[in-house]
Amino acid sequence: MAAAENRLESQSGDAGTGVGPLHLSTAAPALPLRQVVFEAVRAKGRAARSELARGLNVSPASVSAVTNDLIGAGYLAETRAALRDADTGRGRPPVALCVRADAGHVAGIKIAQTGHTAVVHDFAGREVASVTVPGDGPRLDGAAAAGRVETLLREVLRRADLPTEALLAVGVGLPGFIDSAAGTVLWSPLLDERNLRFAADIAGRVGLPVVIDNDANLLTLAELWFGSGRAVSNFAVVTIEHGVGMGLVIDNRLYRGARGLGTELGHMKVHLDGALCQCGQRGCLEAYVSDYALLREAGTALAWQGANADPAVVLESLYAHAKAGNEAARSIFRRAGRYLAVGLGNVINLFDPELVLISGARMRYDYLYADEVLAEMRRMAILVDRPAPRVEAHVWGDLIWARGAAALALSQTTTDRLGAGGLVAAQ
Ligand SMILES: [Zn+2]
Repeated sequence: MAAAENRLESQSGDAGTGVGPLHLSTAAPALPLRQVVFEAVRAKGRAARSELARGLNVSPASVSAVTNDLIGAGYLAETRAALRDADTGRGRPPVALCVRADAGHVAGIKIAQTGHTAVVHDFAGREVASVTVPGDGPRLDGAAAAGRVETLLREVLRRADLPTEALLAVGVGLPGFIDSAAGTVLWSPLLDERNLRFAADIAGRVGLPVVIDNDANLLTLAELWFGSGRAVSNFAVVTIEHGVGMGLVIDNRLYRGARGLGTELGHMKVHLDGALCQCGQRGCLEAYVSDYALLREAGTALAWQGANADPAVVLESLYAHAKAGNEAARSIFRRAGRYLAVGLGNVINLFDPELVLISGARMRYDYLYADEVLAEMRRMAILVDRPAPRVEAHVWGDLIWARGAAALALSQTTTDRLGAGGLVAAQ
């Protein structure tokens, strides 16, 4: 302690040394007004210039200047305002702005063991077409996975009746550790290669900008763009499927960490020298909660045969046994639920979110959002005289992940075309 104090004293005593953060926040003020206004119009669906000026606390003249640029470049159009948006009912008919949906399209693709999905969205963010196909199981090589993305893209464009040239960007999601900024898959349970430059491989095939991310981040983006997270500044999404994933929105933006490895809740250690995880380490949360953890226990506790049985069938059977009162089966779910409660309680204590969304195909297993799990979670959260975070369980359809990938592509292409680099006219 004494050493630390000495260091502080000597630093603050240095003449000519500044004080305070050396890097400014990279949050919203760094965006040009043009992009801020455009994104506000897209988020509202339709907005009058006066309403934008008030909402963004800038002068009407500044809003008029950038909206004129955006109309000229083909991104915004004038439309009739809803009456409540109009300043007065007198004189000229009330005019609002909306996004030109035809300014460009993006595709979102999710590849997974059990199935692949793809969607196309227009520039206003609306879904135009979708496709779902069966998965290829685990351990594709990189070329096969990139080829699968290319095939899906062709099929969803055919359904949207659009040429490839209509697309501005493609977002792709998959499970694993992914460095989104670098476009690299560091490790994925789907792929038999590490450190794969997946975004560049796909871009080389399809001739479009490609941005990749892990599936939990995509689900979180889907909540932020289309779901319960739209109006919530700080929230966490926890997914339970083959693994346990988490996405975190801080100050209205997805938090990824320094190396793209942030918020790996599934690999939070909940037991010293505990059960073996598929990441190779021991005691990770997902080694107690995810599908493969339940399967491992099912095999032991129920002494079932059939190492080659379909995992989905075994899980269904385990669930049926639990519901029918089989004590061993019930104890497996109860234990998993208690570990989940530990993980959720830690998330609340670390990040203090307003909202925790629990999501995943396995959610149909009541144990995961059972009242006793949530009660245990609350017991582990720091108790103060403030309301506890809201917790919602969501059961999404297959397409939600691909929609998140489309949001990722839309976000990227909006920055590329309207952001600080300058305004690029729509095609
Ligand atoms: Zn792990």
